[in-house]
Amino acid sequence: MARYLEPLAALDGIASRIRLGMAVTDVSREGMDRTRTAGRDAAPLVVRSRGAAGTVEDRTFRAVIDASGTFRSANSLASNGLTLPGLAEVADRVMPALPDVLGRDRAVFAGRHTTVVGAGHSAANTVIALASLARDEPGTRVTWAIRTASPDRVTDAETDGLPGRASLGVRARRAVADGRVTLLDGFETVGARWDGDAVALAGRRGTGVTTHRTDVLVNATGFRPDLSMYREIRLDLDDVVEAPRRLAPLIDPNVHSCGTVEPHGYRELAHPDQGVFLVGMKSYGRAPTFLLTTGYEQVRSVVAWIAGDVASARAIELVLPATGVCSTDGGECC
Ligand SMILES: Cc1cc2nc3c(=O)[nH]c(=O)nc-3n(C[C@H](O)[C@H](O)[C@H](O)COP(=O)(O)OP(=O)(O)OC[C@H]3O[C@@H](n4cnc5c(N)ncnc54)[C@H](O)[C@@H]3O)c2cc1C
Repeated sequence: MARYLEPLAALDGIASRIRLGMAVTDVSREGMDRTRTAGRDAAPLVVRSRGAAGTVEDRTFRAVIDASGTFRSANSLASNGLTLPGLAEVADRVMPALPDVLGRDRAVFAGRHTTVVGAGHSAANTVIALASLARDEPGTRVTWAIRTASPDRVTDAETDGLPGRASLGVRARRAVADGRVTLLDGFETVGARWDGDAVALAGRRGTGVTTHRTDVLVNATGFRPDLSMYREIRLDLDDVVEAPRRLAPLIDPNVHSCGTVEPHGYRELAHPDQGVFLVGMKSYGRAPTFLLTTGYEQVRSVVAWIAGDVASARAIELVLPATGVCSTDGGECC
């Protein structure tokens, strides 16, 4: 960890500039909207943030490292990525990814039929917790809806170098095999509506559209980056995964097994607007395979570059465990 934190010491006065309780809403350059070019690189970056009481504050910086993740912007339940038709109507029966099934949110699921939508590790986590709840709470039922033919994004012991994550795959598949969880495969969600007291989920399956009734839905379809704060900043992002263009080919699940990401740092993470870096989970855009180790090395390289230590910024060392997380259909994630 010291290796990652060392470059931070080189940034003078950083502690005095930390703002707690403020959410960043916009980034720009002082006196320059996106269209102005002359003198752009020399203009400080402006970060606008908003406090809980609605206070708005603009502050200027030499660089912005955006490590705000993607957790607050979930993918859509609809297979075309748009807002699911009917969602507003049934919204109080839809839970975001990773509910606390066995703790805080237990009452939502106990004795009810829950459908978890999504094929990745977040979905597997929830499916396992619900299967466990079903043992103790009579009437609890679980369906796992995926649009692929099998939950092959969830790894197992043979393909995953991360034992904890592999065990998720093993346990989720076992719950399906045991009949504690019903797998609804090849189901592409296209709409939702009330059917009495239940939610009727419409999905394309094979050549027709079928209806699946459930009490509660969990949206575990993954995450996407919220880029709205960059309206006035020039970013260079890949069309497919919405990651920095030079990083995207290294992580695009359409072409890569996810363990193969090559070491990368400030150069791959740079944008036309100098001094702006998306790092961490957000740097992966919609690609599902980010690991913290990657983020630590990204941040170390970026901070070294900002501190003027170009040699250290260029010396990227990144060794990731082998994983078989990705299939090659570019479908659901996380
Ligand atoms: C269930 C689950 C398990 C996981 N397990 C692992 C694991 O074992 N190993 C692993 O490597 N990865 C794991 N991941 C992936 C993990 O999410 C990331 O590795 C890690 O959390 C990403 O770190 P981050 O700093 O990029 O983003 P985050 O951890 O999401 O942090 C983002 C931070 O930015 C703040 N923020 C967001 N928007 C704003 C804003 N506008 N202004 C100011 N602040 C903002 C948020 O409040 C948050 O504190 C897991 C993910 C999930 C969902």
